[in-house]
Amino acid sequence: MQDLLETNITYLPGVGPRRAELLNSELNISTYRDLLYYFPYKYIDRTRFYRIAELEPDLPHVQIRGHITGFYSEGGGRGKRLVADFSDDTGTIRLIWFRGARWITGTYGPGPEYIVFGKPGVFNGQINIIHPEIEAAEKTAERITSALQAHYSTTEKLKNHFLSSKAISKLIATLLQKINFTLPETLPGYIIGKYNLLELGKALYSIHFPQDPGILEKARYRLKFEELFYIQLNLIRFKSNRSRKYRGFVFSNVGEKFNTFYFRNLPFELTSAQKRVMKEIRKDLGSGIQMNRLLQGDVGSGKTLVALMSMLIAVDNGYQACIMAPTEILAKQHYQTIVSLLRDMDVSVKLLTGSSAGSLRKEISRSLLDKSLNILIGTHALIEDNVQFGNLGLVIIDEQHRFGVEQRARLWRKSSNPPHVLVMTATPIPRTLAMTLYGDLDVSVIDELPPGRIPVRTMHFFDSEKNKVYGFMKKKIEEGSQVFVVYPLIRESEKMDYRDLEDGWDTISRLFPPPRYCISVVHGQMTPAIKEESMKLFREGKAHILIATTVIEVGVDIPNASVMVIESAERFGLSQLHQLRGRVGRGSDQAYCILMSGDKLSKEASARIDVMTRSNDGFEIAEQDLLLRGPGDIEGTMQSGIPFDLRIADLGKDGQLIAWVRNIAEEIIESDPLLEKDSNAILKHMLKKMFSKKQSWSNIS
Ligand code: ADP
Ligand code: MG
Repeated sequence: MQDLLETNITYLPGVGPRRAELLNSELNISTYRDLLYYFPYKYIDRTRFYRIAELEPDLPHVQIRGHITGFYSEGGGRGKRLVADFSDDTGTIRLIWFRGARWITGTYGPGPEYIVFGKPGVFNGQINIIHPEIEAAEKTAERITSALQAHYSTTEKLKNHFLSSKAISKLIATLLQKINFTLPETLPGYIIGKYNLLELGKALYSIHFPQDPGILEKARYRLKFEELFYIQLNLIRFKSNRSRKYRGFVFSNVGEKFNTFYFRNLPFELTSAQKRVMKEIRKDLGSGIQMNRLLQGDVGSGKTLVALMSMLIAVDNGYQACIMAPTEILAKQHYQTIVSLLRDMDVSVKLLTGSSAGSLRKEISRSLLDKSLNILIGTHALIEDNVQFGNLGLVIIDEQHRFGVEQRARLWRKSSNPPHVLVMTATPIPRTLAMTLYGDLDVSVIDELPPGRIPVRTMHFFDSEKNKVYGFMKKKIEEGSQVFVVYPLIRESEKMDYRDLEDGWDTISRLFPPPRYCISVVHGQMTPAIKEESMKLFREGKAHILIATTVIEVGVDIPNASVMVIESAERFGLSQLHQLRGRVGRGSDQAYCILMSGDKLSKEASARIDVMTRSNDGFEIAEQDLLLRGPGDIEGTMQSGIPFDLRIADLGKDGQLIAWVRNIAEEIIESDPLLEKDSNAILKHMLKKMFSKKQSWSNIS
């Protein structure tokens, strides 16, 4: 039976090679199984029949039954059409076709009763239906039908080859008949029983041909349950295997360096969230099991400090630590921050980036190997093959979603005994998404900002109100603040984007002329040296305005900059806007974030801007982002790559179910870590089938 589902779709009656090729290229359907798991996107209630007298042009799709009383053609040229008068006892309407007249008149005609389905419209005061679905009443009685008629997404190309939604439904019916409506179970009987799930065959039948809304709901639940359950089971099994397989370096001492830093150098009291997270990390580091922890915290919540203190614990125990940042600017900033926090302490720290000179690289290589270097900070350069550590004990990955899976895997392979890993992300991820993307990691959350921060005020202006914004910038600069002006950068049209930035620069430099004002510019096409010069000008307070693309998105910390103007804000995603906004509000003054947009906004763009002006809470924004955009679209997740397609579950809407199946998966792995019990044989088999090809992805962090 398993093999039957692997049959190439070509062999299904009604398909054949040409259609098989199309189904494959357009919808990714190549086997019986793929077709069976091609789920409808909506259902239309076909239980109700309208009477012709009841029809009005603003009704949605309706279903009527009656007879064709005559055909005639009307109009000429492109407007030429075939019209059929269609009647029941209560009246007559016109059915209209602009093409396929010959086929229609050859197939349908006066006599039999037909069922017609379509959207009523009106022309010259007469009700009509253009291009209706039409079928002999007798025929509908023969085929598998259901009260709720499933509709499938299809494409123009498919429709041109007679693969409409209805045709797909027919193929599925054929397939279900062929396999006799039975399918081997994919979940153990005890789970189906305990959680009262529909059995697979029934669920698949009902998702395509639901007899009533109740059974459809149960079918959807069963299929979502299974989809999410296996993802969680795989993650939890992986996590459990890892903790049994790898010994972690034991960092048992909190020693001299940590204490010196904590009692002498630390310029402020840790927030209670930072303290809690440090406790969690210290516990991991001392446990003898390799740490794999995700540290989430909103922008400005003080993750750098947590990173540094964790590294000092590694150093106190004789190990090296490194931080990998996504951009050179950010790596440099970490380096400067850390060097200044460690002032007067005997800890050696070096910076390695793409632009580090050869002599420095040599020096770093040497000191890594002879273990005299304690902390290395850098970009991707850190994972180049020629960078070898003497005894790497802790790896910190900052802003993790910018690193691809493969890059993280390389870092992992740097050592035969894997180092402890702390992944930091400043893009808060909704809990449910985190459970799925990082489900094999433990999670720590800094859910508190350092005291004394005044929330950033966010406002929205249309481009037609630009002058107001310039006026405001001027006022703030007079008061001694600095201003960021950010332009979007969208990969597909980089050239155009730079033109936006250049136009903006023209305008702003005219309005803010030298010598009174100084403006600096930063974008991705500059050499690192020039970029650094520009940043320095702004950081040192010499430039009043920094015009930039999103390169400043992460990590740039300039407390005196209290105004952030975001141009074309409608082109940014929510989490990106939130990241950008996090660049201001780091000082003691009230900070402002000004979102500029075109005068016409799409519904989604305006919803995003609303969320931004309403909320400062990164977690809330992340939730909204997930709801508005859908998880496949969330910035970053695409790169880090959800390694699977969800066919039916929705990470945004099925949060409760995710938490629920995760618990179930945890219980199972706890009682049977290797899935050796007979009752779990199906689980083992399914995991192998689903994840064996892709297994390396979870090996990443
Ligand atoms: P993140 O990386 O989480 O966005 P940072 O680590 O850059 O945040 O910290 C933001 C700012 O807050 C820095 O200027 C840092 O020195 C400061 N900071 C961190 N922790 C505290 C604290 N407990 N009290 C006061 N200021 C803090
Ligand atoms: Mg940071």
